[in-house]
Formats: sequence, C-alpha cells, structure tokens
Amino acid sequence: MCVFCEIVNGNIPSKKVYEDDMMLAFWDLNPVAPVHILAVPKVHIESVNDINAENSKYVAHIFEKLSEIAKEQGITSYRIINNCGADAGQSVMHLHFHLIGGTKLGEKIL
Ligand code: 5GP
Ligand code: ZN
Repeated sequence: MCVFCEIVNGNIPSKKVYEDDMMLAFWDLNPVAPVHILAVPKVHIESVNDINAENSKYVAHIFEKLSEIAKEQGITSYRIINNCGADAGQSVMHLHFHLIGGTKLGEKIL
C-alpha cells in the first residue's frame, strides 16, 4: 500500500488539517513554506494521468475545499502544485496537490 493510502488509513500518522469522506489534507513532512499542506483523495489515484470520468469527483471535491483550507491557515494567496510523473518530481505515486503559501512566493515554481 502506498504511503498516502497508509496515511489515509491512519497506519502512518500525519498532522491533519481537514478530513471528510472523500479527501484528507495534512501537513507536508518537509514544508517548503510557512504553509505547506497536501490534499489527497481517499481513493488511490496514481497521478493526474489517471483522473477519469469515474474518479474526477474526488478532484473536484478537493478543489472545492482548498480555499477553505487555505483560509483556515489565514491565507488567501497561495500556490497549488501538482507534480505528475517522476520526471516532474512526483515522488509519492498517489495523486496530491501541494497548497503552499504564508510568505511571498518567488516567481519560479517553488
Ligand atoms: P511530490 O514530490 O510527490 O510532489 O510530493 C510528495 C510530498 O510528500 C513531499 O513534499 C514530501 O515531503 C511529502 N511526504 C512524503 N512522505 C510523507 C509522509 O510520510 N508524511 C507527510 N506528511 N508528507 C510526506
Ligand atoms: Zn495510495
């Protein structure tokens, strides 16, 4: 089972910020900014390449909640990042969106 499935199942602890039946949001283990939260679907979708008509509701749901999660952290300006595939820097093969902010971000990607 992948690391984020283990986190969703509670087998690996995480610092949760939001949870419902479709998604979990938790702090990144190695934050790159004052706010660095990962939002993941509760079903295992490997990457953006694997989003389809059956599972896209999980992605839509995550995006419905991201602004609320950011607002709870006190930010309305932030960057959402998804790395799709190893060459793009995806190291955990379970779809996740990085919510990064809490400081003035550079013009580069990170
Ligand atoms: P990627 O490089 O795949 O886009 O992002 C994976 C992210 O997951 C990295 O920023 C990494 O710090 C984070 N990460 C990896 N393993 C764990 C873990 O066990 N717990 C938490 N909270 N974050 C993790
Ligand atoms: Zn998984």
